[in-house]
Amino acid sequence: MRKTKIIATLGPAVARYEAIGELIEAGMDVARLNFSHGDYDSHRQFAEWVRKAAAEQNKPVALLQDIQGPRIRVGTFEGGAVRLEPGTELKLRSGEAEGSAEEVFVENLDAAQLEAGATVVISDGLITLDVIDWDGQTCTAGVVEGGVLHDHKGVAFPGSMIDVPAVSDKDVADLAFGRTLGVDYVAVSFVSSAMDLKRVKNLIPGTPVIAKIESVVGYRNLTEILTEAAGTMVARGDLGVEIKFEAVPRAQREILQRTNAKARISITATEMLESMNHSTRPTRAEVSDVAAAVLDGSDAVMLSSETAVGQYPIRAVQAMARICEEAEGSPDYGRGPEIHFLEDRARFASATAQACVDAAENLDLRAIVAFTESGSTARLISKYRPHSDIFAYTPHEATYRRMALYSGVTALRFAAVDSTDKMIAHAERDLLEQGIVELGDGIVMAAGIPPNQAATTNLMKLHSIGSSA
Ligand code: PGA
Ligand code: MN
Repeated sequence: MRKTKIIATLGPAVARYEAIGELIEAGMDVARLNFSHGDYDSHRQFAEWVRKAAAEQNKPVALLQDIQGPRIRVGTFEGGAVRLEPGTELKLRSGEAEGSAEEVFVENLDAAQLEAGATVVISDGLITLDVIDWDGQTCTAGVVEGGVLHDHKGVAFPGSMIDVPAVSDKDVADLAFGRTLGVDYVAVSFVSSAMDLKRVKNLIPGTPVIAKIESVVGYRNLTEILTEAAGTMVARGDLGVEIKFEAVPRAQREILQRTNAKARISITATEMLESMNHSTRPTRAEVSDVAAAVLDGSDAVMLSSETAVGQYPIRAVQAMARICEEAEGSPDYGRGPEIHFLEDRARFASATAQACVDAAENLDLRAIVAFTESGSTARLISKYRPHSDIFAYTPHEATYRRMALYSGVTALRFAAVDSTDKMIAHAERDLLEQGIVELGDGIVMAAGIPPNQAATTNLMKLHSIGSSA
């Protein structure tokens, strides 16, 4: 059974109901709606399809709304693109109008503090400019690395200050719309502080928020960001522009480890199977990269253009699933840093989770069973990365879907019962029926007394299948 979860970005390549069903069959656990692209009608359509196909296949699939955040983009060009030649000069101006090779419009440029000699990076590092002069309105720049610049590509100013609101008017509107879709998670782009996340959380109370780490400031402020975030995403596309690309693998490992040590969800994203945009098979280097992300401790790995606009979206998810499963068979898998009672806010739950994992490892048990209201018990157990599979029962539909993002966790529904004996009896019957366990197998269970209350996990039970509870 694969443990690492797969996030697939939806887009024109999979804009059919059947394709969504195929993505789920191939292993998509979380569907990402990228609000830097697409319109509300297409996002709503995708959300409906995901819910319907997930119900049809009786699988938990979460919806992740990814908001654009304070990303700065160029305007448009006649015909959709323009070629910038190295050695030429151009003017950058604030706005979103149609530009040319001599005059490129950049959103919010007037909020930038640029100096002669500063660098401007466009289109994920494809194009770089050297600032010659800046008068607060117009920037004269030389093209250092040229290339074809398409409409609305992102612009970064590594090392320069730029004062744009962390949550734009578009983000506020998009979050309100996402709420009407009932999204399960929100990912926030270009997070720079815990404050940025608080602003978003105030707009969508109750929805867990993933901080995309894709700027130098966000990376620097990771500790405080982790106090507010439900998880982080190593957003390697933009991060690799803001820091040296050769520093990305080191940053990736560090962000994943620090996120896991705080019991938050960790995601690795971008260009994971990039060549599959046009090829039926990944490159060996991509296969190694996905495997490394799994061994580095990612709860989930993400596909972006591969599934949104690529030629082989279903094959990309299939390839991802195969690579993850194989990597998880490595002896190195799951050996993270030693972590103790990692959730300071839930010390009993963390200790119970760790005890369950220790018992499962020592006794070589097939399954760890968790009964969970919010999903946090399952997440804590998952963070100790046991070899056993984790089966998490919840009476809540929202928790059922959210657990789709937790490594090694199979989410299951059950109707709330009034005693732990009944819970155990239910799990035993269900796991037997599903053929997951056999009579005589040992399992370990985590639950809370009194039952049906959040944050009370305090009980571990070893149970032999078939013996009375
Ligand atoms: P994006 O974020 O795909 O929204 O740009 C991911 C990244 O930058 O890697
Ligand atoms: Mn990004």
